[in-house]
Amino acid sequence: MDMDKLVSLCKRRGFIFPSSEIYGGINGFWDYGPLGVELKRNIKDAWWKDTITTRDDVVGLDCSIIMHPKVWEASGHVGGFSDPMVDCRDCKGRFRADQLTFILFVLSTEGGAAPAKNIFFFGSGNELEVAEQHAKKIDKLTNGVKPGESLTRTSGTFLDLDPEVRAKFTCPTCNKEATLTEPRNFNLMFESHAGAIADEANKVYLRPETAQGIFANFRNVVDTGRVKTPFGIAQVGKSFRNEINPRNFTFRSREFEQMELEFFCHPEESAHWYKYWRDTRYQWYVTHGLKSSKLTLRDHDPDELAFYSKATADIEYDFPFGISELEGIAHRGDYDLSQHQKFSGKDLSYFDEDRWEKEKAGMGMTSFKQYLEKNKGAEKPGYPYQYVPHVIEPSAGADRGTLAFLCEAYQEDEVGGELRTVLKFHPRLAPIKAAVFPLVKKDGMPEKAEAIYRELKRHFNVFFDEKGAIGRRYRRQDEAGTPFGITVDGQTLQDDTVTFRDRDSCTQWRVPAAGVLQAVRDLLDGQPIPGGEKVSEGSE
Ligand code: ATP
Repeated sequence: MDMDKLVSLCKRRGFIFPSSEIYGGINGFWDYGPLGVELKRNIKDAWWKDTITTRDDVVGLDCSIIMHPKVWEASGHVGGFSDPMVDCRDCKGRFRADQLTFILFVLSTEGGAAPAKNIFFFGSGNELEVAEQHAKKIDKLTNGVKPGESLTRTSGTFLDLDPEVRAKFTCPTCNKEATLTEPRNFNLMFESHAGAIADEANKVYLRPETAQGIFANFRNVVDTGRVKTPFGIAQVGKSFRNEINPRNFTFRSREFEQMELEFFCHPEESAHWYKYWRDTRYQWYVTHGLKSSKLTLRDHDPDELAFYSKATADIEYDFPFGISELEGIAHRGDYDLSQHQKFSGKDLSYFDEDRWEKEKAGMGMTSFKQYLEKNKGAEKPGYPYQYVPHVIEPSAGADRGTLAFLCEAYQEDEVGGELRTVLKFHPRLAPIKAAVFPLVKKDGMPEKAEAIYRELKRHFNVFFDEKGAIGRRYRRQDEAGTPFGITVDGQTLQDDTVTFRDRDSCTQWRVPAAGVLQAVRDLLDGQPIPGGEKVSEGSE
Protein backbone atom coordinates (compact mmCIF):
# COMPACT_ATOMS: atom_id res chain seq x y z
CA MET A 1 0.00 0.00 0.00
CA ASP A 2 1.26 3.40 -0.96
CA MET A 3 1.36 5.82 1.97
CA ASP A 4 0.85 8.85 -0.28
CA LYS A 5 -2.41 7.40 -1.57
CA LEU A 6 -3.68 6.89 1.97
CA VAL A 7 -2.67 10.39 3.04
CA SER A 8 -4.48 11.84 0.07
CA LEU A 9 -7.61 9.74 0.68
CA CYS A 10 -7.58 10.87 4.33
CA LYS A 11 -7.50 14.48 3.20
CA ARG A 12 -10.02 14.09 0.37
CA ARG A 13 -12.60 12.21 2.42
CA GLY A 14 -12.19 14.10 5.67
CA PHE A 15 -10.36 11.62 7.86
CA ILE A 16 -7.23 13.60 8.72
CA PHE A 17 -6.10 17.15 7.84
CA PRO A 18 -2.84 18.91 8.62
CA SER A 19 -3.43 21.16 11.63
CA SER A 20 -3.81 24.90 10.90
CA GLU A 21 -3.60 24.18 7.20
CA ILE A 22 -4.83 27.60 6.12
CA TYR A 23 -1.66 29.01 7.71
CA GLY A 24 0.59 26.45 6.07
CA GLY A 25 0.26 23.75 8.73
CA ILE A 26 2.38 23.10 11.81
CA ASN A 27 4.82 20.21 11.93
CA GLY A 28 3.74 17.33 14.15
CA PHE A 29 0.11 18.34 14.65
CA TRP A 30 -2.96 16.88 12.95
CA ASP A 31 -6.71 17.37 12.94
CA TYR A 32 -9.33 14.65 12.55
CA GLY A 33 -12.13 15.50 10.15
CA PRO A 34 -15.74 14.28 10.30
CA LEU A 35 -14.93 10.67 9.32
CA GLY A 36 -11.61 10.54 11.18
CA VAL A 37 -13.06 11.70 14.46
CA GLU A 38 -15.69 8.93 14.31
CA LEU A 39 -13.08 6.31 13.49
CA LYS A 40 -10.75 7.37 16.30
CA ARG A 41 -13.63 7.68 18.75
CA ASN A 42 -14.82 4.16 17.86
CA ILE A 43 -11.32 2.84 18.51
CA LYS A 44 -11.15 4.61 21.88
CA ASP A 45 -14.69 3.48 22.75
CA ALA A 46 -13.91 -0.12 21.82
CA TRP A 47 -10.79 0.03 24.00
CA TRP A 48 -12.69 1.64 26.88
CA LYS A 49 -15.51 -0.88 26.70
CA ASP A 50 -13.20 -3.91 26.42
CA THR A 51 -10.76 -2.67 29.05
CA ILE A 52 -13.09 -1.10 31.60
CA THR A 53 -16.86 -1.29 31.28
CA THR A 54 -17.23 -4.98 30.44
CA ARG A 55 -14.70 -6.05 33.10
CA ASP A 56 -15.04 -6.27 36.86
CA ASP A 57 -11.46 -5.43 37.71
CA VAL A 58 -10.67 -2.12 35.97
CA VAL A 59 -11.93 1.40 36.72
CA GLY A 60 -11.51 4.57 34.70
CA LEU A 61 -10.03 7.97 35.45
CA ASP A 62 -9.67 11.34 33.74
CA CYS A 63 -6.78 13.44 35.05
CA SER A 64 -5.65 16.97 34.31
CA ILE A 65 -3.03 17.41 31.60
CA ILE A 66 -0.95 19.80 33.69
CA MET A 67 0.07 18.34 37.02
CA HIS A 68 2.32 19.32 39.90
CA PRO A 69 5.86 19.53 38.46
CA LYS A 70 7.10 17.14 41.17
CA VAL A 71 5.14 14.37 39.42
CA TRP A 72 7.61 14.60 36.53
CA GLU A 73 10.61 14.65 38.84
CA ALA A 74 9.37 11.48 40.55
CA SER A 75 8.63 9.77 37.24
CA GLY A 76 12.09 10.58 35.92
CA HIS A 77 10.82 12.71 33.03
CA VAL A 78 12.48 15.94 34.18
CA GLY A 79 15.89 14.30 34.44
CA GLY A 80 15.75 11.63 31.82
CA PHE A 81 12.99 12.05 29.24
CA SER A 82 15.20 13.13 26.44
CA ASP A 83 16.41 12.07 23.06
CA PRO A 84 19.93 12.61 21.73
CA MET A 85 19.60 15.39 19.19
CA VAL A 86 21.88 16.49 16.38
CA ASP A 87 21.66 19.89 14.66
CA CYS A 88 22.95 20.97 11.29
CA ARG A 89 24.88 24.22 11.78
CA ASP A 90 24.16 25.22 8.22
CA CYS A 91 20.49 24.49 7.45
CA LYS A 92 19.40 24.27 11.12
CA GLY A 93 17.89 20.83 10.45
CA ARG A 94 17.39 18.78 13.60
CA PHE A 95 17.63 14.98 13.81
CA ARG A 96 17.45 12.25 16.40
CA ALA A 97 20.91 10.76 16.64
CA ASP A 98 19.49 7.28 17.16
CA GLN A 99 17.48 7.61 13.95
CA LEU A 100 20.22 9.16 11.86
CA THR A 101 21.49 6.12 10.08
CA PHE A 102 24.52 5.70 7.92
CA ILE A 103 26.08 3.29 5.52
CA LEU A 104 29.81 3.43 5.33
CA PHE A 105 31.75 1.84 2.52
CA VAL A 106 35.45 1.59 3.16
CA LEU A 107 37.65 0.88 0.21
CA SER A 108 40.99 -0.48 1.32
CA THR A 109 44.09 -1.55 -0.45
CA GLU A 110 45.70 -4.90 0.08
CA GLY A 111 48.02 -5.40 3.03
CA GLY A 112 45.91 -3.29 5.39
CA ALA A 113 47.17 0.03 4.05
CA ALA A 114 45.14 3.12 4.94
CA PRO A 115 41.74 3.23 3.22
CA ALA A 116 41.98 4.66 -0.21
CA LYS A 117 38.51 6.11 -0.05
CA ASN A 118 35.58 6.18 2.36
CA ILE A 119 32.11 6.69 1.06
CA PHE A 120 29.35 7.64 3.50
CA PHE A 121 25.65 7.73 2.97
CA PHE A 122 23.26 9.03 5.52
CA GLY A 123 19.57 9.09 6.02
CA SER A 124 17.00 9.18 8.79
CA GLY A 125 15.13 6.00 9.67
CA ASN A 126 13.91 4.18 6.61
CA GLU A 127 15.77 6.46 4.27
CA LEU A 128 18.65 4.08 4.77
CA GLU A 129 17.23 2.06 1.90
CA VAL A 130 17.29 5.12 -0.33
CA ALA A 131 20.86 5.74 0.72
CA GLU A 132 21.70 2.20 -0.27
CA GLN A 133 20.20 2.69 -3.71
CA HIS A 134 22.39 5.76 -4.15
CA ALA A 135 25.35 3.79 -2.97
CA LYS A 136 24.74 1.16 -5.63
CA LYS A 137 24.95 3.82 -8.29
CA ILE A 138 28.52 4.60 -7.42
CA ASP A 139 30.81 3.29 -10.15
CA LYS A 140 33.11 1.61 -7.74
CA LEU A 141 30.30 -0.54 -6.45
CA THR A 142 28.63 -1.42 -9.69
CA ASN A 143 31.85 -2.05 -11.56
CA GLY A 144 33.39 -4.00 -8.74
CA VAL A 145 36.63 -3.25 -7.04
CA LYS A 146 39.98 -3.34 -8.72
CA PRO A 147 42.43 -6.15 -8.03
CA GLY A 148 44.26 -5.41 -4.82
CA GLU A 149 41.33 -3.49 -3.32
CA SER A 150 38.58 -4.60 -1.04
CA LEU A 151 35.36 -2.95 -0.08
CA THR A 152 33.67 -3.39 3.29
CA ARG A 153 30.24 -2.13 4.25
CA THR A 154 29.05 -1.20 7.72
CA SER A 155 25.91 0.51 8.90
CA GLY A 156 24.47 1.81 12.13
CA THR A 157 23.35 5.04 13.73
CA PHE A 158 25.16 8.29 14.42
CA LEU A 159 25.65 7.17 18.02
CA ASP A 160 27.69 4.15 16.95
CA LEU A 161 30.45 6.28 15.43
CA ASP A 162 33.49 7.94 16.97
CA PRO A 163 33.19 11.72 17.39
CA GLU A 164 35.82 12.45 14.75
CA VAL A 165 33.91 10.39 12.21
CA ARG A 166 30.65 12.09 13.21
CA ALA A 167 32.24 15.44 12.56
CA LYS A 168 32.62 14.49 8.89
CA PHE A 169 28.99 13.51 8.43
CA THR A 170 27.01 15.05 5.61
CA CYS A 171 23.70 16.61 6.58
CA PRO A 172 20.86 14.49 5.15
CA THR A 173 18.81 17.62 4.46
CA CYS A 174 21.20 20.14 2.92
CA ASN A 175 23.94 17.70 1.89
CA LYS A 176 26.70 19.93 3.25
CA GLU A 177 29.64 18.12 4.72
CA ALA A 178 30.87 18.38 8.31
CA THR A 179 28.00 20.56 9.54
CA LEU A 180 26.47 18.32 12.20
CA THR A 181 26.90 18.95 15.92
CA GLU A 182 27.64 16.30 18.52
CA PRO A 183 24.45 14.73 19.99
CA ARG A 184 22.92 16.71 22.84
CA ASN A 185 20.12 15.61 25.08
CA PHE A 186 16.89 17.40 24.42
CA ASN A 187 14.00 17.14 26.87
CA LEU A 188 10.80 16.20 25.10
CA MET A 189 8.39 17.83 27.55
CA PHE A 190 6.57 20.98 26.50
CA GLU A 191 6.90 23.66 29.14
CA SER A 192 4.52 26.39 30.18
CA HIS A 193 3.83 28.56 33.20
CA ALA A 194 0.84 28.37 35.51
CA GLY A 195 0.01 31.89 36.65
CA ALA A 196 0.87 35.38 35.55
CA ILE A 197 4.60 35.27 36.15
CA ALA A 198 6.71 33.30 33.73
CA ASP A 199 9.48 32.25 36.11
CA GLU A 200 11.05 28.97 37.24
CA ALA A 201 8.75 28.74 40.26
CA ASN A 202 5.69 28.68 38.02
CA LYS A 203 7.06 26.26 35.47
CA VAL A 204 4.73 23.41 34.51
CA TYR A 205 4.77 20.71 31.86
CA LEU A 206 2.20 19.34 29.45
CA ARG A 207 2.06 15.65 30.33
CA PRO A 208 4.14 13.43 28.05
CA GLU A 209 2.09 10.37 29.08
CA THR A 210 -1.21 9.74 30.84
CA ALA A 211 0.18 7.05 33.15
CA GLN A 212 1.52 9.35 35.87
CA GLY A 213 -1.94 10.78 36.60
CA ILE A 214 -3.00 7.24 37.43
CA PHE A 215 -0.12 6.66 39.84
CA ALA A 216 -0.68 10.03 41.49
CA ASN A 217 -4.32 9.02 42.10
CA PHE A 218 -3.60 5.48 43.26
CA ARG A 219 -4.32 6.28 46.92
CA ASN A 220 -7.53 8.16 46.04
CA VAL A 221 -8.89 5.27 43.99
CA VAL A 222 -7.94 2.63 46.58
CA ASP A 223 -9.55 4.66 49.36
CA THR A 224 -12.75 5.42 47.47
CA GLY A 225 -13.15 2.93 44.67
CA ARG A 226 -13.72 -0.33 46.60
CA VAL A 227 -11.03 -1.92 44.45
CA LYS A 228 -9.00 -4.96 45.47
CA THR A 229 -5.85 -6.31 43.87
CA PRO A 230 -5.57 -7.41 41.19
CA PHE A 231 -7.20 -4.33 39.68
CA GLY A 232 -6.51 -1.73 37.04
CA ILE A 233 -6.98 2.00 36.55
CA ALA A 234 -7.25 3.19 32.98
CA GLN A 235 -7.37 6.49 31.19
CA VAL A 236 -7.58 7.88 27.68
CA GLY A 237 -6.30 11.33 26.93
CA LYS A 238 -3.96 13.70 25.18
CA SER A 239 -0.21 13.58 25.67
CA PHE A 240 2.41 15.92 24.33
CA ARG A 241 6.00 15.33 23.32
CA ASN A 242 8.19 17.84 21.60
CA GLU A 243 9.44 15.20 19.16
CA ILE A 244 12.60 16.25 17.38
CA ASN A 245 11.54 14.81 14.11
CA PRO A 246 7.78 14.26 13.72
CA ARG A 247 7.27 11.95 10.78
CA ASN A 248 5.30 9.28 8.99
CA PHE A 249 1.96 11.10 8.94
CA THR A 250 0.33 10.84 12.39
CA PHE A 251 2.66 8.07 13.57
CA ARG A 252 5.04 10.39 15.38
CA SER A 253 3.20 13.57 16.35
CA ARG A 254 3.83 16.20 18.98
CA GLU A 255 0.28 16.01 20.30
CA PHE A 256 -1.36 12.60 20.42
CA GLU A 257 -3.74 10.48 22.42
CA GLN A 258 -2.89 7.54 24.60
CA MET A 259 -4.99 4.72 26.00
CA GLU A 260 -3.21 3.50 29.09
CA LEU A 261 -3.94 0.91 31.72
CA GLU A 262 -2.01 0.45 34.95
CA PHE A 263 -2.83 -2.95 36.38
CA PHE A 264 -1.86 -3.35 40.04
CA CYS A 265 -1.23 -6.79 41.46
CA HIS A 266 0.58 -8.79 44.12
CA PRO A 267 4.29 -9.09 43.29
CA GLU A 268 4.00 -12.88 43.22
CA GLU A 269 1.25 -12.71 40.60
CA SER A 270 2.84 -10.12 38.38
CA ALA A 271 4.44 -12.56 35.93
CA HIS A 272 1.03 -14.12 35.32
CA TRP A 273 -0.65 -10.74 34.72
CA TYR A 274 2.15 -9.56 32.48
CA LYS A 275 1.60 -12.54 30.21
CA TYR A 276 -2.16 -12.12 30.39
CA TRP A 277 -2.10 -8.47 29.27
CA ARG A 278 0.57 -9.02 26.67
CA ASP A 279 -1.54 -11.70 24.99
CA THR A 280 -4.89 -9.97 25.53
CA ARG A 281 -3.72 -6.72 23.95
CA TYR A 282 -2.20 -8.49 20.96
CA GLN A 283 -5.44 -10.40 20.38
CA TRP A 284 -7.45 -7.15 20.60
CA TYR A 285 -5.82 -5.82 17.44
CA VAL A 286 -6.31 -9.11 15.62
CA THR A 287 -10.01 -9.20 16.61
CA HIS A 288 -10.46 -5.71 15.22
CA GLY A 289 -9.02 -6.60 11.88
CA LEU A 290 -5.24 -6.21 11.95
CA LYS A 291 -3.97 -9.34 10.27
CA SER A 292 -1.64 -11.31 12.48
CA SER A 293 0.79 -11.63 9.56
CA LYS A 294 1.34 -7.85 9.86
CA LEU A 295 1.42 -7.77 13.66
CA THR A 296 4.36 -8.78 15.77
CA LEU A 297 4.57 -9.23 19.49
CA ARG A 298 8.21 -8.49 20.12
CA ASP A 299 9.69 -9.26 23.51
CA HIS A 300 12.46 -6.86 24.46
CA ASP A 301 15.93 -8.28 24.97
CA PRO A 302 17.15 -7.90 28.56
CA ASP A 303 19.57 -5.14 27.48
CA GLU A 304 16.69 -3.12 25.97
CA LEU A 305 14.71 -3.03 29.23
CA ALA A 306 14.47 0.06 31.42
CA PHE A 307 16.39 -0.66 34.63
CA TYR A 308 13.18 -1.07 36.67
CA SER A 309 11.33 -3.20 34.13
CA LYS A 310 11.21 -6.94 34.55
CA ALA A 311 9.86 -7.53 31.04
CA THR A 312 8.50 -5.48 28.16
CA ALA A 313 6.92 -6.42 24.85
CA ASP A 314 5.97 -4.22 21.91
CA ILE A 315 3.06 -4.84 19.62
CA GLU A 316 4.37 -3.77 16.24
CA TYR A 317 2.61 -3.29 12.93
CA ASP A 318 4.06 -3.55 9.48
CA PHE A 319 3.30 0.00 8.26
CA PRO A 320 4.16 1.00 4.67
CA PHE A 321 7.11 2.94 6.18
CA GLY A 322 8.40 -0.03 8.14
CA ILE A 323 7.63 -2.18 11.18
CA SER A 324 6.89 0.17 14.07
CA GLU A 325 5.45 0.19 17.59
CA LEU A 326 1.71 0.45 18.18
CA GLU A 327 1.65 -0.37 21.86
CA GLY A 328 4.06 -1.35 24.61
CA ILE A 329 3.24 -3.72 27.47
CA ALA A 330 5.63 -3.29 30.37
CA HIS A 331 6.10 -5.07 33.66
CA ARG A 332 7.20 -2.04 35.70
CA GLY A 333 7.57 -3.73 39.08
CA ASP A 334 6.84 -1.32 41.94
CA TYR A 335 9.00 1.42 40.44
CA ASP A 336 6.35 4.11 39.83
CA LEU A 337 4.47 3.84 43.11
CA SER A 338 7.74 3.63 45.06
CA GLN A 339 9.04 6.75 43.32
CA HIS A 340 5.87 8.70 44.12
CA GLN A 341 5.98 7.39 47.67
CA LYS A 342 9.52 8.72 47.95
CA PHE A 343 8.87 12.11 46.37
CA SER A 344 5.48 12.81 48.00
CA GLY A 345 6.18 11.26 51.39
CA LYS A 346 2.75 9.56 51.20
CA ASP A 347 2.24 5.88 51.90
CA LEU A 348 1.31 4.19 48.64
CA SER A 349 1.41 0.63 49.90
CA TYR A 350 -1.62 -1.59 49.78
CA PHE A 351 -3.03 -3.74 52.54
CA ASP A 352 -4.30 -6.98 51.06
CA GLU A 353 -7.12 -7.65 53.46
CA ASP A 354 -8.41 -10.71 51.60
CA ARG A 355 -5.04 -12.39 51.61
CA TRP A 356 -4.54 -11.50 55.24
CA GLU A 357 -7.95 -12.89 56.29
CA LYS A 358 -7.35 -16.06 54.28
CA GLU A 359 -3.94 -16.58 55.82
CA LYS A 360 -5.24 -15.91 59.30
CA ALA A 361 -8.01 -18.42 58.84
CA GLY A 362 -5.57 -21.00 57.50
CA MET A 363 -2.85 -20.56 60.14
CA GLY A 364 -2.83 -22.56 63.32
CA MET A 365 -3.05 -20.32 66.40
CA THR A 366 0.56 -21.01 67.28
CA SER A 367 1.96 -19.98 63.96
CA PHE A 368 -0.37 -16.96 63.85
CA LYS A 369 0.98 -15.87 67.25
CA GLN A 370 4.51 -16.46 65.99
CA TYR A 371 3.78 -14.32 62.95
CA LEU A 372 2.49 -11.45 65.09
CA GLU A 373 5.49 -11.86 67.42
CA LYS A 374 7.87 -11.60 64.46
CA ASN A 375 6.13 -8.50 63.11
CA LYS A 376 5.72 -6.88 66.51
CA GLY A 377 5.16 -3.17 66.54
CA ALA A 378 3.89 -3.09 62.98
CA GLU A 379 0.46 -1.54 62.73
CA LYS A 380 -0.44 -3.86 59.95
CA PRO A 381 1.08 -7.16 58.89
CA GLY A 382 4.06 -6.84 56.55
CA TYR A 383 4.78 -8.57 53.26
CA PRO A 384 3.13 -10.57 51.73
CA TYR A 385 -0.02 -8.90 53.11
CA GLN A 386 1.10 -5.30 52.94
CA TYR A 387 3.03 -4.32 49.84
CA VAL A 388 3.58 -1.78 47.11
CA PRO A 389 1.76 -3.45 44.20
CA HIS A 390 3.54 -4.39 41.02
CA VAL A 391 2.29 -2.74 37.87
CA ILE A 392 1.64 -4.11 34.41
CA GLU A 393 1.23 -1.29 31.91
CA PRO A 394 -0.29 -1.76 28.46
CA SER A 395 0.23 1.64 26.83
CA ALA A 396 -1.34 2.22 23.43
CA GLY A 397 -1.43 5.19 21.09
CA ALA A 398 -4.91 5.99 19.76
CA ASP A 399 -3.47 7.80 16.75
CA ARG A 400 -1.06 5.02 15.90
CA GLY A 401 -3.93 2.54 16.25
CA THR A 402 -6.07 4.67 13.95
CA LEU A 403 -3.27 4.83 11.40
CA ALA A 404 -2.72 1.06 11.51
CA PHE A 405 -6.45 0.38 11.07
CA LEU A 406 -6.49 2.82 8.12
CA CYS A 407 -3.45 1.18 6.50
CA GLU A 408 -4.93 -2.28 6.97
CA ALA A 409 -8.36 -1.26 5.67
CA TYR A 410 -7.10 0.48 2.53
CA GLN A 411 -7.58 -1.71 -0.53
CA GLU A 412 -7.98 -1.31 -4.22
CA ASP A 413 -9.97 -4.01 -5.94
CA GLU A 414 -12.13 -4.58 -8.97
CA VAL A 415 -15.90 -4.76 -8.90
CA GLY A 416 -17.79 -5.51 -12.10
CA GLY A 417 -14.69 -4.62 -14.14
CA GLU A 418 -14.26 -1.27 -12.38
CA LEU A 419 -11.44 -0.32 -10.05
CA ARG A 420 -12.57 0.84 -6.63
CA THR A 421 -10.87 2.10 -3.48
CA VAL A 422 -12.37 0.65 -0.36
CA LEU A 423 -11.64 0.93 3.34
CA LYS A 424 -12.43 -2.47 4.83
CA PHE A 425 -12.82 -1.45 8.47
CA HIS A 426 -14.10 -3.83 11.10
CA PRO A 427 -17.80 -2.83 11.44
CA ARG A 428 -17.28 -1.89 15.09
CA LEU A 429 -14.69 0.70 14.08
CA ALA A 430 -16.27 1.99 10.85
CA PRO A 431 -17.15 5.71 11.09
CA ILE A 432 -20.50 5.21 9.35
CA LYS A 433 -22.25 1.92 10.01
CA ALA A 434 -24.73 1.90 7.14
CA ALA A 435 -25.89 4.09 4.27
CA VAL A 436 -29.46 4.22 3.04
CA PHE A 437 -30.25 4.94 -0.60
CA PRO A 438 -33.45 5.35 -2.60
CA LEU A 439 -32.67 3.78 -5.98
CA VAL A 440 -34.27 6.74 -7.75
CA LYS A 441 -35.66 10.04 -6.57
CA LYS A 442 -39.30 9.25 -7.32
CA ASP A 443 -42.25 6.92 -6.74
CA GLY A 444 -42.10 7.33 -2.97
CA MET A 445 -38.66 5.72 -2.71
CA PRO A 446 -36.97 8.72 -1.04
CA GLU A 447 -39.71 8.86 1.61
CA LYS A 448 -39.45 5.15 2.40
CA ALA A 449 -35.62 5.32 2.48
CA GLU A 450 -35.73 8.33 4.73
CA ALA A 451 -38.03 6.54 7.18
CA ILE A 452 -35.51 3.65 7.39
CA TYR A 453 -32.67 6.15 7.77
CA ARG A 454 -34.46 7.96 10.63
CA GLU A 455 -35.08 4.68 12.44
CA LEU A 456 -31.43 3.59 12.14
CA LYS A 457 -30.10 7.05 12.96
CA ARG A 458 -31.53 6.80 16.47
CA HIS A 459 -29.10 3.95 17.12
CA PHE A 460 -26.07 4.35 14.89
CA ASN A 461 -24.17 6.78 12.76
CA VAL A 462 -25.84 6.23 9.37
CA PHE A 463 -25.83 8.22 6.14
CA PHE A 464 -28.55 9.10 3.66
CA ASP A 465 -27.66 9.70 0.04
CA GLU A 466 -30.08 10.18 -2.82
CA LYS A 467 -27.86 11.98 -5.30
CA GLY A 468 -26.33 10.46 -8.43
CA ALA A 469 -26.08 6.98 -9.91
CA ILE A 470 -26.40 4.20 -7.37
CA GLY A 471 -23.01 2.72 -8.34
CA ARG A 472 -21.33 6.09 -7.61
CA ARG A 473 -23.09 6.31 -4.27
CA TYR A 474 -21.84 2.81 -3.34
CA ARG A 475 -18.27 3.81 -4.30
CA ARG A 476 -18.40 6.89 -2.10
CA GLN A 477 -19.43 4.78 0.87
CA ASP A 478 -16.78 2.16 0.05
CA GLU A 479 -14.17 4.91 0.32
CA ALA A 480 -15.60 5.99 3.66
CA GLY A 481 -15.46 2.39 4.87
CA THR A 482 -19.24 2.04 5.43
CA PRO A 483 -19.84 -1.71 5.86
CA PHE A 484 -23.49 -1.89 4.78
CA GLY A 485 -25.67 -0.33 2.14
CA ILE A 486 -29.47 -0.46 2.23
CA THR A 487 -31.31 0.34 -0.98
CA VAL A 488 -34.99 1.03 -1.41
CA ASP A 489 -36.14 0.14 -4.93
CA GLY A 490 -39.27 -0.60 -6.93
CA GLN A 491 -39.77 -3.98 -5.26
CA THR A 492 -39.71 -2.34 -1.81
CA LEU A 493 -42.91 -0.56 -2.63
CA GLN A 494 -44.56 -3.89 -3.45
CA ASP A 495 -43.29 -6.29 -0.79
CA ASP A 496 -41.54 -4.06 1.77
CA THR A 497 -38.13 -5.67 1.27
CA VAL A 498 -34.88 -3.79 0.65
CA THR A 499 -31.50 -4.80 -0.67
CA PHE A 500 -28.74 -5.15 1.88
CA ARG A 501 -25.27 -4.76 0.41
CA ASP A 502 -22.05 -5.98 1.98
CA ARG A 503 -19.13 -3.59 1.36
CA ASP A 504 -16.39 -6.21 1.13
CA SER A 505 -17.96 -8.83 -1.12
CA CYS A 506 -20.49 -6.47 -2.80
CA THR A 507 -23.00 -9.28 -2.40
CA GLN A 508 -26.63 -8.15 -2.07
CA TRP A 509 -29.53 -9.79 -0.28
CA ARG A 510 -33.21 -8.98 -0.10
CA VAL A 511 -34.31 -8.59 3.46
CA PRO A 512 -37.56 -7.32 4.99
CA ALA A 513 -37.39 -3.58 5.67
CA ALA A 514 -38.67 -4.24 9.18
CA GLY A 515 -35.63 -6.43 9.91
CA VAL A 516 -32.95 -3.91 8.87
CA LEU A 517 -32.35 -2.44 12.32
CA GLN A 518 -31.85 -5.88 13.87
CA ALA A 519 -29.64 -6.98 10.96
CA VAL A 520 -27.30 -3.99 11.40
CA ARG A 521 -27.27 -4.56 15.14
CA ASP A 522 -26.39 -8.26 14.72
CA LEU A 523 -23.67 -7.49 12.22
CA LEU A 524 -22.08 -4.95 14.54
CA ASP A 525 -22.19 -7.63 17.20
CA GLY A 526 -20.20 -9.94 14.98
CA GLN A 527 -23.12 -12.11 13.80
CA PRO A 528 -23.04 -13.39 10.23
CA ILE A 529 -24.63 -11.49 7.33
CA PRO A 530 -28.42 -12.00 7.44
CA GLY A 531 -30.07 -14.70 5.38
CA GLY A 532 -32.66 -13.76 2.83
CA GLU A 533 -32.63 -14.11 -0.89
CA LYS A 534 -29.30 -13.39 -2.51
CA VAL A 535 -29.84 -11.07 -5.45
CA SER A 536 -26.33 -10.52 -6.69
CA GLU A 537 -22.85 -11.57 -5.86
CA GLY A 538 -19.63 -9.61 -6.23
CA SER A 539 -20.89 -7.24 -8.91
CA GLU A 540 -23.32 -4.37 -9.29
P1 ATP B 1 8.70 5.60 20.32
O1 ATP B 1 9.86 4.72 20.65
O2 ATP B 1 8.04 5.27 19.01
O3 ATP B 1 8.99 7.07 20.49
P2 ATP B 1 7.84 5.14 22.96
O4 ATP B 1 8.38 3.77 23.22
O5 ATP B 1 8.53 6.33 23.47
O6 ATP B 1 7.56 5.30 21.39
P3 ATP B 1 5.81 5.02 24.90
O7 ATP B 1 6.43 6.04 25.75
O8 ATP B 1 5.91 3.59 25.32
O9 ATP B 1 6.34 5.17 23.42
O10 ATP B 1 4.30 5.43 24.64
C1 ATP B 1 3.26 4.49 24.54
C2 ATP B 1 2.52 4.61 23.23
O11 ATP B 1 2.15 5.97 22.98
C3 ATP B 1 3.32 4.21 22.01
O12 ATP B 1 3.28 2.82 21.82
C4 ATP B 1 2.62 4.95 20.91
O13 ATP B 1 1.49 4.21 20.46
C5 ATP B 1 2.15 6.22 21.59
N1 ATP B 1 3.09 7.30 21.25
C6 ATP B 1 4.24 7.61 21.86
N2 ATP B 1 4.83 8.68 21.28
C7 ATP B 1 4.00 9.05 20.27
C8 ATP B 1 4.05 10.08 19.28
N3 ATP B 1 5.05 10.96 19.25
N4 ATP B 1 3.04 10.18 18.39
C9 ATP B 1 2.01 9.30 18.42
N5 ATP B 1 1.92 8.31 19.32
C10 ATP B 1 2.89 8.17 20.23
